[in-house]
Amino acid sequence: MSLSRHNGILNIEDCAVPALAEQFGTPLYVYSRAAIESAWRAYDQAFADRDHLICYAVKANGSLAILQLLARLGSGFDIVSGGELARVMEAGGDPGRVVFSGVGKTEAEIVQALDVGILAFNVESEAELERIAAIALRKGLEAPVSLRVNPDVDARTHPYISTGLKENKFGIDIHRAEAIYRQAAAMPGIRVTGLDFHIGSQLTELDPLADALSRSLSLVDRLGDTGIGLAHLDIGGGLGIRYEDEQPPTPADLAERLAPLLADRPQRLLMEPGRALVGEAGLLLTRVEYLKPGHRDFAIVDAAMTDLLRPALYDAWQRIENAEPVDAEPRLYDIVGPVCESADTLGRARSLALVPGALLAIHGAGAYGFVMASQYNARPRPAEVLVDGDRAHLIRERESLEALWSGERLLEMP
Ligand SMILES: *Cc1c(COP(=O)(O)O)cnc(C)c1O
Repeated sequence: MSLSRHNGILNIEDCAVPALAEQFGTPLYVYSRAAIESAWRAYDQAFADRDHLICYAVKANGSLAILQLLARLGSGFDIVSGGELARVMEAGGDPGRVVFSGVGKTEAEIVQALDVGILAFNVESEAELERIAAIALRKGLEAPVSLRVNPDVDARTHPYISTGLKENKFGIDIHRAEAIYRQAAAMPGIRVTGLDFHIGSQLTELDPLADALSRSLSLVDRLGDTGIGLAHLDIGGGLGIRYEDEQPPTPADLAERLAPLLADRPQRLLMEPGRALVGEAGLLLTRVEYLKPGHRDFAIVDAAMTDLLRPALYDAWQRIENAEPVDAEPRLYDIVGPVCESADTLGRARSLALVPGALLAIHGAGAYGFVMASQYNARPRPAEVLVDGDRAHLIRERESLEALWSGERLLEMP
């Protein structure tokens, strides 16, 4: 584990967290290189006995240095926008290992992806299939396509991060997919290469994934009977991490559970983990500005929903701890930011020993943390540091005030 305590002081790898806060300021995102790389390797090793490709879901954390680390390990990438594709390329990722998901791919994004030669489009509707075909034909290319089916299984996770039920906007109804595959196989400009699903995020059970896979495999069999062979199966991402006391399955559990279903299947296996690779590798550091006792005791900190949106957006619980010992009695505090919204709460009723200036570490902040940061209330976005042993690399500068209005124009006034 990359986190440890020495004399009460929190360390990430061989760096003392208070020293990082001192050097780089707060609020600050800090990531462990070792934690990211070992999470990726655990996935890779779990599926070592079959042809596979891990396509890291860039939306979980798209910082260039993190993409660079994963690209160097040989990772592929799952993207949901042209911006993410550009980031992957900028970080040295291989476009031939990129799959493109998302329900709203624009014309420009499809052109961009065809131009660099991605591995596959995960197509989410018939209209998108037709658009991709038309663009590919115009360019004299064949677009590699896998259909994202919606297997209609309940991922048994938070409704906001569940995506595999038929009422969700994602994917193509699995009962309609066979007909659309036949259509796709006959379309000029389209090369059918695979099948994909992604049923949700922060999964703590494997049954829904196994159900989705068996439903998909029956479809693969029916397609095979009609002469449509697939080169890959993409099982999406979604494995959970430990925020509180969850016991999420490991990649090895996943591989073991799926192995009997996949036996004798010649297809290359793709997967799209995001959170499970980076989530536990990151901390958000924040300092207490004020204590405000009253009906509820508030600790007002220098991080906000603009830096870490999950608690406000999903009512998510993330562990908050002192980064170093504080000489005070523990009390129950609501940890809140300075933003003018009641939703700007990072944690409720947390037992902590606090004084103004105390340094707090918010755990599980490596995924869906910085990527969701905004400048609301004209707050510059935080800096990011990657720790590697006893070295700390600044991988993103704290946003400057000038950056808050870069690209804006004043009116010309007479
Ligand atoms: C968000 C997403 C992922 C990654 O989900 P995690 O829960 O972070 O593993 C993978 N695939 C698709 C299509 C996604 O939208």
